[in-house]
Amino acid sequence: MKGSQPILVIGTVAFDSIKTPLAEANEVLGGSATFFAMAARLFTPVQLVAIVGKDFPSHHLKMFEENGIDLQGLVRAEGSTFRWKGEYEENMNVRRTLETHLNVLEQFDAKLPPQYQSAPYVFLANINPDLQLRVLEQLEHPKLICCDTMNLWIIHQLPDLEKVLKRIDIFIISEEEAQMLTNEHNIVRAAREILKLGKFSLIIKRGGYGAILFTQSNQVFAIPAYPLENVVDPTGAGDSFAGGFMGYLASRDSVDLETVQRAMIYGNIVASFSVEGFSVERLSSLTREIVRNRLSDFLMMTHLVPAAVHVE
Ligand code: AMP
Repeated sequence: MKGSQPILVIGTVAFDSIKTPLAEANEVLGGSATFFAMAARLFTPVQLVAIVGKDFPSHHLKMFEENGIDLQGLVRAEGSTFRWKGEYEENMNVRRTLETHLNVLEQFDAKLPPQYQSAPYVFLANINPDLQLRVLEQLEHPKLICCDTMNLWIIHQLPDLEKVLKRIDIFIISEEEAQMLTNEHNIVRAAREILKLGKFSLIIKRGGYGAILFTQSNQVFAIPAYPLENVVDPTGAGDSFAGGFMGYLASRDSVDLETVQRAMIYGNIVASFSVEGFSVERLSSLTREIVRNRLSDFLMMTHLVPAAVHVE
């Protein structure tokens, strides 16, 4: 697409073990950067910055490459790949982390290949905030920086996270993390507190309940989730949302409010596919056309015609 810009993502490439009330998957491909890249690649080229161990199989690398993901920033180090184990409760909106093994992540220095330093669009996916900071320091003149995080980093590396937040344009986090960051249960009050931590706009993801954008100038935009009959595994929904969201923005090379709102709808739709399977099963078979069809359904479902609504 004319004007389309590449996106640089730094995050985790992982082996996930997941238990849901209905099924289990062991050591499947996961990680924040994986889901993000596999979603964003539908819209624009992606440069992946991450680390894996020598146990990472070449068929996964091939899958990334076949999907147009640039791997010059993917380090293969001695040791084991990052591993994460999680379990979902009955309603799939509540998740517990059972195990996190950082493994090779502990030796990662997040050095960007020189040709990545001029990246215009950058996603700091969920990873240690000190690595997110290191990436920020190497960028020449980014146009848009979005960032995600997770409870582990909010608990253990809050000062670094706060430094990151001073330097980004859009912060995307889950409702649970927003509550944890502020000790505030009400989502609007939590958003107001978080907005004080920088100059960014904030998107709070609400799992099966959709997502809400809050801007520094008090604009609010809320969308519901696409109603699904079969949710197989919510893991990676947030990263897939971010991938669809940023992929769309970079493909339009625009960050005005209207494009951001449209991008949220794309993120929402891409995430709805991601949760229909384990790992990147669904994302890897997605096409723009499939996304467009579900997006049309979604627009029909959510379309309120102001003239037809009679307010007493
Ligand atoms: P999400 O469901 O969007 O929050 O993303 C889940 C993905 O994040 C999984 O594939 C995990 O491998 C990865 N992950 C879990 N914990 C962490 C962590 N502490 N830092 C970075 N990535 C993580």
